[in-house]
Amino acid sequence: MTFTIIMFGLVAAAAEIAGGSLLLMRRQWPRSVQEYLLALGAGFILALVFLELVPESFRAVGGEAPLFMLMGYALLHFFEHTIVGHLHFGEETHTDVMVSRVASLSTFAGLFIHAFFDGFAISVGMEFNFTLGLLIFFAVLLHKIPEGLTIASVMIAAERKRQTAFLASLAIGVATMLGILSVFILSAVSGQVVGIAFAFSAGASTYVGASDLIPEINHSKNRVIPLLVFGGMLLFWAGKALLAPAGVR
Ligand SMILES: [Zn+2]
Ligand SMILES: [Zn+2]
Repeated sequence: MTFTIIMFGLVAAAAEIAGGSLLLMRRQWPRSVQEYLLALGAGFILALVFLELVPESFRAVGGEAPLFMLMGYALLHFFEHTIVGHLHFGEETHTDVMVSRVASLSTFAGLFIHAFFDGFAISVGMEFNFTLGLLIFFAVLLHKIPEGLTIASVMIAAERKRQTAFLASLAIGVATMLGILSVFILSAVSGQVVGIAFAFSAGASTYVGASDLIPEINHSKNRVIPLLVFGGMLLFWAGKALLAPAGVR
């Protein structure tokens, strides 16, 4: 199982690095593609949160679940939008706020923590219930290319070298793997911790859907994009139906 989880983690990390590389290879990244992926990713992850992660968290830790979910949400809010001045998904176009190198470093730190919990959610999900973990993997995968693109474009907007931008997306990929591996350590300490970590990552996933992805979609001038959120929810439903024989309730 450990090996399988690591392989899925590597795919997610590779998508991250691919997102950064795509941005660096093309002068003009098609904005619509990035928005389609963010919208599908948002719908998918929010359906996953409400239909699976929240009820499963209650099954795992009972009445304590809401506290751990809130902690997961709050932790990402703290690291992405409390101590970090400027972080949003999609290509960085605000060169005015990225003039200071500190700004791009703090955005990097915020995305690093975010990506760590992407990996954490995949790993803890798969340990908890493998087929459910697969759905978490898809939810993360859908926004990984835009995420890699985000960090690479932040570095470019801060007038850093292309090589630095590539290394930054690589490092965010590594953060995802660290999240994957940290769950192995946690579960070795105590099996009970996995349930708590699961509820915690349900809250973190809520943050990713509702506070990282949805606001970007709401900014879009293309009105098809908000509709695609419902497409993401349908995609989740289809994915769940497909995996049903494998054991997701
Ligand atoms: Zn910006
Ligand atoms: Zn992410």
